Amino acid sequence: MGRLVVAGRLGEDLTVVDAAFTRSWVEEIAASIEDRRDFLTQLDAAIGDADHGVNMSRGFSAVRQKLADGAGDGLTPGQLLTLVGSTLVSTVGGASGPLYGTAFRRAGKALGDDADVSSEAFAGALRAALDGVQQLGAASVGDKTMVDALVPAVSAFEASVRRGASFADAAADAHEAGEEGLQATIPLQARKGRASYLGPRSVGHQDPGATSTALIFAALERAARAAG
Ligand code: ADP
Ligand code: MG
Repeated sequence: MGRLVVAGRLGEDLTVVDAAFTRSWVEEIAASIEDRRDFLTQLDAAIGDADHGVNMSRGFSAVRQKLADGAGDGLTPGQLLTLVGSTLVSTVGGASGPLYGTAFRRAGKALGDDADVSSEAFAGALRAALDGVQQLGAASVGDKTMVDALVPAVSAFEASVRRGASFADAAADAHEAGEEGLQATIPLQARKGRASYLGPRSVGHQDPGATSTALIFAALERAARAAG
């Protein structure tokens, strides 16, 4: 079970993310990707090539298998996220494999080998993930990609941590902001990725990658609530 240590000290809210929590987040992501695989694929059928759910499912099934085989045993939060990223890069084709792979690897690298990670450090890892995605894919908010959900989610997490929110509340704020970013992709015309080939015909559909990003933050909130 995930463990989230909350030690109040002189009004401070010190929240620590450990390996068990990180694992439970990854398991939550894998379960929800599996659950929504067909939905993600349908979204991609409308404005892409109908494989986003399949791609994400292949990647996170491989992650699950590695964890079941013990590859994650004894790893720190950062090392676990790096393992997730490397697994996605090596098993997922398309745009989303390298992009999500980079995101998780950058987040893992940002956390280093610390066994316990503060909310501030976790916020830094989310920012590093976003920077990695933007360096690789060159998408900005408004291009109708996963960046449209990732930017508001990361910003909301950072802002919540800055004002002293608990990890779980910061995760809830990130999830909500990510959902809003996702909804905002519906009226947009895609300017990056496969959907951009459709031009104006991409308008009126929610972006598959922004949808999977929102799922990842929903999973973070659920994992945090379960641990708290
Ligand atoms: P592919 O488009 O290669 O078939 P997927 O279907 O798995 O890959 O993923 C599609 C998603 O990838 C899109 O919905 C979009 O969110 C995201 N995406 C595509 N190109 C970019 C990019 N340059 N930057 C960020 N995200 C991107
Ligand atoms: Mg696709």
